Amino acid sequence: MIDKPSIYGLLPEELEVFCKEQGQPVFRAKQIFDWLYGKRVSSFDEMKNLPAPFRDQLVKHFGSQPLEETSSLRREAPCRNAVAFQTLEKLETKGEKGETQKLLFQLSDQELIETVIIPAPRRGTNTICISAQVGCRFGCAFCASGQKGVIRNLTAGEIVGQVMEAAKELGERPNNVVFMGIGEPFDNYDAVMKSVRILNHPAGLNIGARKITVSTCGVVPGIERFAEEGLQVELSVSLHAPDEQTRSSIMPVNETWPMTELMDACAVYTEKTNRIITFEYTLIKDINDSVEQAHELVQLLRRFPCRVNLIPLSPVEEFDGECPESETMQAFFQTLENAHINTTLRDSKGSKLKAACGQLRSRRLD
Ligand code: SAH
Repeated sequence: MIDKPSIYGLLPEELEVFCKEQGQPVFRAKQIFDWLYGKRVSSFDEMKNLPAPFRDQLVKHFGSQPLEETSSLRREAPCRNAVAFQTLEKLETKGEKGETQKLLFQLSDQELIETVIIPAPRRGTNTICISAQVGCRFGCAFCASGQKGVIRNLTAGEIVGQVMEAAKELGERPNNVVFMGIGEPFDNYDAVMKSVRILNHPAGLNIGARKITVSTCGVVPGIERFAEEGLQVELSVSLHAPDEQTRSSIMPVNETWPMTELMDACAVYTEKTNRIITFEYTLIKDINDSVEQAHELVQLLRRFPCRVNLIPLSPVEEFDGECPESETMQAFFQTLENAHINTTLRDSKGSKLKAACGQLRSRRLD
C-alpha cells in the first residue's frame, strides 16, 4: 500500500502553494519547515503555532513520519575483521555515539532500504550514507544491492526521510550526505535531484551542496545532465578498473556505456563545472589490484584533475572475490600517489557490520 505522500518530499515553494490552497498565509510553509527540519518533530500535532484546522488538513494530505525503522546495527569496536553480527535478532541494539551504525527501514509497501550513519568524532562530522532505489538494475559483480535487480525508485520524501531518521538517531544535524547506499542515483534522477534541493535548502537542514555527494556507476546521460544543474554537489564515479575488459567483467554497465564514453563525459563535466570528480576504485584481489593496473589507471586519469578513493573489497556472499593483502593495496596506493594523484585508501568500516551496499536488505530477503 502506497499511502499519503510524505511531507519530506516537498520544497518550501510547494508547501506555500498548499498553504494558499488551504487559505493560509505563505509564511506557514516556513513554520512547517522549521518544525520538520529545525525542531525535527514527527507529527503535525506538535506544530503548536499552526491553527488546529490547518494541522488537520496537513494530517489529511501528508505523512509526517519520515520512515519506519525495522532494525539497526552498530559496529562492535574491537571486532576488526570478523563478522560483527551473526543473526538479525542481534541487530536490534542501538548504536552508541562514535560508532558506525546501520539502519534498515521498511517502506509503506513493505520494501526494505538501508541507511548508514558514519560518525567521525575526531573531525566532529557525521556522514549519512543513503539509498536511492529499492534494489539496483546495474548488477556490479561485487555489490549486494543489485543481485536481485531493481524493484522501484525511492521518492524524494523517502530519500530525505532517511536523512531525517539518521538526524533523530544522532540527535543533531548531519554534516555530510552521500548517495552510496542501495541503488543508482542517476537511474532515479529527478527524485534524487529534488531530495538534494530539499536537503540543501536554507530553510531546512541546510546541508551545504559541497557536503552532498552523488555516486554513479557510470550512467553517462546522468553525468551529462548533472553537469548542467549548476549545483556545487560533489560527483563520485565508480570506476573499479583501468581498462574496458576488466571493467566489463565486473560491471555490466560498461557494456552500455563503455569506459571511453564515460571518461569523455567526465572530462566534459570537469570542464563545464570546474569541479573535481572522485573516482571510486574497489580493490579486488587478482582482478584489478596489480601495480601494472595502477600505472594504467594513472595514464587513464591524466586528462583532467581528479581524486581517487581506493576501497578494500568488503566481502559479500554473492561474490567469491577477495580483498587484496594490505601490502598490495599499499603498493597500488603508492603508485597513484607517486604520480601526484590525490588518493585515499578508505577504512572499510562497513564490512565489519555487513554494511557493504545492500547486504542487510539482502539478508532479510533470503
Ligand atoms: N550505484 C552507485 C552508488 C552505490 S555504491 C555507484 O555505483 O557508485 C557506493 C560504492 O560502493 C560504489 O563505488 C560501489 O561500487 C561500492 N561497493 C559496492 N559493493 C561493494 C563491496 N562489496 N565492497 C567494496 N565496495 C563496494
